[in-house]
Amino acid sequence: MKEYLRRVYAGSAEDFCRKAEAAMESGERLFVVTANPEILMAADRDEKARELLLCKDAEIVPDGISVVKAMRILDLPVTERITGVDLADKLLHSAGRTGKSVYLLGAKEEVVSALAKKLKTHYPSLTLHYHNGYDGDKDSILKEAAILAPDLVLVGLGVPAQEMLLYQHLGEFKKGVLMGVGGSFDVLSGMKRRAPALFQKTNTEWLYRILREPSRLKRFWRSNVKFLGEVRKAAKK
Ligand code: UDP
Repeated sequence: MKEYLRRVYAGSAEDFCRKAEAAMESGERLFVVTANPEILMAADRDEKARELLLCKDAEIVPDGISVVKAMRILDLPVTERITGVDLADKLLHSAGRTGKSVYLLGAKEEVVSALAKKLKTHYPSLTLHYHNGYDGDKDSILKEAAILAPDLVLVGLGVPAQEMLLYQHLGEFKKGVLMGVGGSFDVLSGMKRRAPALFQKTNTEWLYRILREPSRLKRFWRSNVKFLGEVRKAAKK
């Protein structure tokens, strides 16, 4: 566990956002992995996920308070949570302001099309392509996306499938910020409400999500509680 956590970005969310904006501006490729307990735990079981987290192209950011806590337990430097939804939101706006090209893959058709419409209304000069996350072959979709050479590629299919898909096709993208965004399109499209500010400020967004969708409890237990248990074990070694 420590070997992946050691690679997690230790600076502020604002600094990371600037770094990603600069990559978009200069035409560099930046593969952003928003690490939550699920992907970190997957790496302990799955060789491909492990390879992904250790690959030099992956810039890992701490999405989720458990990851920040884990880093503190292990005495690793960390500033704050860098959430996928906030980063995606900021990068979409900055792509819009500077007339960049964006590819969105994931979520239901009505969700991703609503988000695309919203963005195009705000930023008419934005070049935007999208595909929902339920129809079609994902590998072919990403191959086609790579041919368009977008400046920003956001994939919202859930962790770790979205990261694995991007990793699989990384070599086909010569530039662009590529990032897995989980359920962010549901929130950014306005279809799903984000946790109110109080939950965000107190780092208890997870609690809000469980209260709204109790079926998440099992997943929360499996990933977060088990994860912190494993981190504590690793700290004692
Ligand atoms: N999703 C998708 N295709 C699938 C399964 C899921 O596009 O085959 C989307 C789903 O609609 C949602 C996102 O993936 O927008 C996953 O959201 P979730 O809130 O579970 O992810 P988290 O943010 O918790 O990682």
